[in-house]
Amino acid sequence: MENRLSLSDVFASNVFCDAVMRERLPKTVYRSLRATIDEGHPLDENIAEIVANAMKDWATDKGATHFTHWFQPMTGITAEKHDSFISMLPDGRIIMEFSGKDLIKGEPDASSFPSGGLRATFEARGYTAWDCTSPAFVKDNTLYIPTVFYSYTGQVLDKKTPLLRSMEALSKQCLRVLRLFGDNETRRVLTTVGAEQEYFLIDRQLFERRRDLLFCGRTLFGAPPAKGQEIEGHYFGSINSRVKAFMQELDLELWRLGVPAKTEHNEAAPAQHELAPVFTTANISTDHNQLIMELMKKTAKKHNLACLLAEKPFAGVNGSGKHINWSLTTDGGQNLLDPGTSPHENAKFLTFLCAVIHAVDEYADLLHVSIASAGNDERLGGGEAPPSIISVSLGDHLTGLFMQLESGGENSLSQDGLLKVGVKSLPRLPRDTTDRNRTSPFAFTGNKFEFRMPGSSISISGPVFIMNTIVAEILSRYADRLEKAEDFESELSSLLAEVSRERRRIIFNGNNYSSEWAAEAKERGLCSFESFVESVPRFLEKKNISALSKHGVLSPAEIESRCEILFENYVSAVCIEALTMISMSRTELLPAALRFKRELSEGIAASCACGLPDAPERVIFESISGIISAFLEDIALLERGMRELEASEDSRASAERCRYGIIPAMRRVRAHGDALEGIVPRSLWPIPTYEDMMFSL
Ligand code: ADP
Ligand code: MG
Repeated sequence: MENRLSLSDVFASNVFCDAVMRERLPKTVYRSLRATIDEGHPLDENIAEIVANAMKDWATDKGATHFTHWFQPMTGITAEKHDSFISMLPDGRIIMEFSGKDLIKGEPDASSFPSGGLRATFEARGYTAWDCTSPAFVKDNTLYIPTVFYSYTGQVLDKKTPLLRSMEALSKQCLRVLRLFGDNETRRVLTTVGAEQEYFLIDRQLFERRRDLLFCGRTLFGAPPAKGQEIEGHYFGSINSRVKAFMQELDLELWRLGVPAKTEHNEAAPAQHELAPVFTTANISTDHNQLIMELMKKTAKKHNLACLLAEKPFAGVNGSGKHINWSLTTDGGQNLLDPGTSPHENAKFLTFLCAVIHAVDEYADLLHVSIASAGNDERLGGGEAPPSIISVSLGDHLTGLFMQLESGGENSLSQDGLLKVGVKSLPRLPRDTTDRNRTSPFAFTGNKFEFRMPGSSISISGPVFIMNTIVAEILSRYADRLEKAEDFESELSSLLAEVSRERRRIIFNGNNYSSEWAAEAKERGLCSFESFVESVPRFLEKKNISALSKHGVLSPAEIESRCEILFENYVSAVCIEALTMISMSRTELLPAALRFKRELSEGIAASCACGLPDAPERVIFESISGIISAFLEDIALLERGMRELEASEDSRASAERCRYGIIPAMRRVRAHGDALEGIVPRSLWPIPTYEDMMFSL
């Protein structure tokens, strides 16, 4: 009876975690490995053999027969290549073997993973290297070893490497600033992340009858349901028993893998839910989020459900995001975004706070790039999701303090040892959830920032490594300036005064969904992009390339390749949708409409035969005939657009064609399909409706 197991027996039971390492590794090996994990010391290759053997023994005790290097290529999902532990002995018997070399390095065939032109096909070789900062685990009788993935020439092919590099860069810059505040103890600063995951659950039978959901993860047709989300019974409402069973199993599976799933609740839209894990370091959080998404899909299937992770599975209904809670913690456990109680801590807090505000303002375009995807274009600005304008909400109290910093340069005194930052003592800030601005794309929530723009299906690594890098860049400038200062306190005062003056345009605590805000943001000159296609080229802006390469996160060539991959992924997502839409239109929706049209014409003929030429069917007949003709015309236009797209070679040009040609054409096709849904009898409509799906549970 699994339910009776105590959580502490279950939690991380399938993880090669610290306790297991301590128990199974010789003391010196354990210490050396910990130094690599905790302090970033280079891995001592001599210990690999011992660690590999201990890992194999532990994993086989857990029933593992195989091992895999687990990596995160640019597809956005994880990849794995399984090998068994089996080795043949000359006498025909087998032994279980796993060498240090197997642990440290792998060589998956890289040719089928996106490289954005980094790796010519004749150099298809790619390597995976053990990332010991994220623990190995056993799942499905396989030992999973988290790894990074790079090309023969050493260029990054994955989502993990830039994240790890950005964590290092940020730590380094944080330390410089901390030293200026007299902190000589801290040796490392960790980026901490907790990513809340939103998702939809629907009945599996209905899911399987919709090719748009099967192939694209979102509906391409569907008239709005009569009963919608305006009936606000769902949010935090009582959880349906099937959903509850799913959540319980999901939690248990996640706990076994050491993923601290904490809260599960209903979200605003019908059939929408959310899972929030307890935060941990950014790299582990990234792995956890990938596991969460994977296990959500798998567990849903077991429960005869389908889990939808797309950003906007249903038009007109709330979309799903991934709220990335982000903060900085010293190895001594101090959260640098926690306003302390003493003036000294306050000044430190304000410095880090200002750095984040400054970074978000100056690099808002890069943040846009980090969350850009075809799916998120459907979601952002949807009247419920953050708009595509980046601003920072601080809450009224902290905003007041931030604004006051402007005058800090002149009027603050340093008698009684207080720092001249204009704020002598910051009272504890209220951390009440009712006080939160839920419409803000980037909100300070007491001791961390919450970035709400990322879409529900993407890897969190992108937004997190961008956050880390831009904050590292700003901190490096602060450190450069403050290290040179003769009087640290007055220099800090004037620095913060400057930030307050120059960056206040990014602060907005009001309703981000309102149209007034869109107008005001424009006046303030804030960065806003209509869509993916407008924002992604900004990746290649000089200032962005320079920040990313200066801190060793991505080289210019790696940035270019990533840009290329983003465009390619976008085009392929839009193409799959367009082709699915054409096929559904021609083989499902049109035949149903034509069938009804024939029934109507039979009704009209029958009335005529009785001498009643004004059959009521006639009106419907005329209207459906009109829609069908327009439908056919627009399908043909979409098909033509697709043929033209095929001829385009350049990925950015193709993406633009998708955005300005294909997507508007799809919108027109959809409108006809949805109009038909409103006329054709339910008994003839070939696919489940929004009502069917959203209220199926
Ligand atoms: P709520 O938003 O419901 O009030 P919390 O504030 O506790 O809940 O946290 C929301 C998410 O933020 C959780 O995933 C949590 O683990 C994460 N979180 C809390 N503190 C931090 C932190 N210092 N750094 C990163 N994430 C954090
Ligand atoms: Mg939240």
